[in-house]
Amino acid sequence: MKKKILAMLMASVMVLGATACGGGSEPAADTADLPTVGVLIYKYDDTYISTVRNALEAALEGKAEVIMQDGKGDQATQNDQLDVMIEKGVDVLAVNMVDAKAAAGVVDKAKEAGIPTVFFNREPDTEVIQSYEKAVFIGTNAADAGKMQGDLVKKIFDANPAYDLNGDGKVQYVMFQGEPDNPEAIARTQYSVEQAEVNGVVMEQIGETQVCNWDTEMAQKAMEAMLAANEGKIELVLANNDGMAIGCVAALSNIGYNTGAEGAGFIPVIGVDATDAAKDAIANGTMSATVLQDGQAMGNAIAAVCVNMAAGSEALADTEYVFDETGVCVRIPYAPYEG
Ligand code: CA
Repeated sequence: MKKKILAMLMASVMVLGATACGGGSEPAADTADLPTVGVLIYKYDDTYISTVRNALEAALEGKAEVIMQDGKGDQATQNDQLDVMIEKGVDVLAVNMVDAKAAAGVVDKAKEAGIPTVFFNREPDTEVIQSYEKAVFIGTNAADAGKMQGDLVKKIFDANPAYDLNGDGKVQYVMFQGEPDNPEAIARTQYSVEQAEVNGVVMEQIGETQVCNWDTEMAQKAMEAMLAANEGKIELVLANNDGMAIGCVAALSNIGYNTGAEGAGFIPVIGVDATDAAKDAIANGTMSATVLQDGQAMGNAIAAVCVNMAAGSEALADTEYVFDETGVCVRIPYAPYEG
């Protein structure tokens, strides 16, 4: 809080100065007048999150000072970074948890320091967010991305009956999951298949769900093994994110599928995120579809809410956002993307 006091002192000095000159004009904008937003990112090396943090920084330009830290996928590291930010007396925290289950510890510390906290992307338990009157969450509705994948399955197989390679009227699919315990990953895995079935598609899983930590290389290796073990039997790839979907496309193109070349074999691959790499793959005909997780919109929302909360205003004051039924969560909508 030292910074705040200093800022107040400086502001008074400037006001005194202005009065002394008889001008009475507003002091010139200076970073000392701006609130400080402490941003904790679960890891920089994540394509979607990179979009979010770039958008967030851009949206806060001129409105706040930003301190940002890379948790590098390690909750202990992020906890240390949190302590430093609290010591520095940031005016608001924007937290992308490494492990959403560790959010109660973040809330305890933020509450003690009286710092408003905007969780985003990786969702803490609702009760944890509700336990602190200055905490909110900005994310998506995890089930929606899966449901949109399920709708895409129906649409793609209706439009291309030949994708049913063995002609048995069922879709033999493989599933690539982000992390074993991540609620977003679990929901995408579950609802993609359920929604396809709701749409009347008979789904039959090949092999075990491949947990590949959202990672392209890991998914590529797993897909290579799946293809080797189930030659000619896989008719669809569902991946919780585009990073893994792109890994699967690479594995397929290594055996001559999904190369985008005329006459090459093709197995539909559906991801989530609409990363640039996935959009390119869809444009090149090597991947079928994805679900747009709008990182730009997410970054803008986090910025607006942080500025409000840093100023002590209502979290959603003067914004287009609304809380869902929990009263503490804002949901940024997904959209299907087929190029
Ligand atoms: Ca089939």
